[in-house]
Amino acid sequence: MDSENTSIHEFDVNLICEYFSSVERQGPGSPETTIKALGFIDNLTDKSLIADLGCGTGGQTMILAQHTPAQIQGIDLFPSFIDKLNVNAGRLNLHDRLKGVVGSMENLPFEDKELDVIWSEGAIYNIGFERGLNEWRKFLKTGGYIAVTEASWFTGSRPNEIETFWTDAYPEIDAIPNKTAQMQKAGYIPVATFILPENCWTDNFYIPQIPAQEAFLKKYPGNETAESLIANMRREAEMYSRYKQYYGYVFYIGRKI
Ligand code: SAH
Repeated sequence: MDSENTSIHEFDVNLICEYFSSVERQGPGSPETTIKALGFIDNLTDKSLIADLGCGTGGQTMILAQHTPAQIQGIDLFPSFIDKLNVNAGRLNLHDRLKGVVGSMENLPFEDKELDVIWSEGAIYNIGFERGLNEWRKFLKTGGYIAVTEASWFTGSRPNEIETFWTDAYPEIDAIPNKTAQMQKAGYIPVATFILPENCWTDNFYIPQIPAQEAFLKKYPGNETAESLIANMRREAEMYSRYKQYYGYVFYIGRKI
């Protein structure tokens, strides 16, 4: 890659990060569902270590810190998200137990069997569900938990338009029983699965983006990256409102055996 391309690419990434930093969550979810998923996980103490992979600006990481006594490390590829997480942790007086670190879920900075819990909301798709479950397992203690949200089909068949949309975006999307079977095959007891309610997508993800999109387009008039990012996000939201009975995010909680 020549240097001109590198800087264009970095400019794009910075713009995309700026947009997603302007909203509280970078993926669908809610405090209530994080707390519900935590309800399946027992025996956490102040010595326990939770890693939140692809934590973004830390919407769910704060909830983990507020609802467990554990030590928590959030990991994300993008420094601007991690900066925001660390500022929020300081503000909420959680910085003793909660730290954001820049890093990749493909190359985790942990020892084998160091972690009590691996958390990842709306982010495992970056490495792929099966690959993530398999590669991250060695970092968990025996009896430790994994809790991830993953795009899943709710029905056996669906209209072509939404099938094509998802096959382009994330071909690993699959039916819930297939995902659960993958979890079992990777060496976890599937402890629980539940579908995230609609408000995780609407009230907590797409609706807060509406004013953020207007502000962003105003700030970068005529900018191609900004315009295509917003067009994509608007199309994704429209797909969701048309086809939400066919797919959504599912929490998969497993225990390492
Ligand atoms: N968990 C947050 C963010 C979800 S968006 C929430 O639910 O709000 C997905 C996140 O994964 C983004 O913050 C993105 O920066 C991060 N990400 C993408 N690839 C990654 C990688 N290889 N390693 C770590 N984080 C990654």
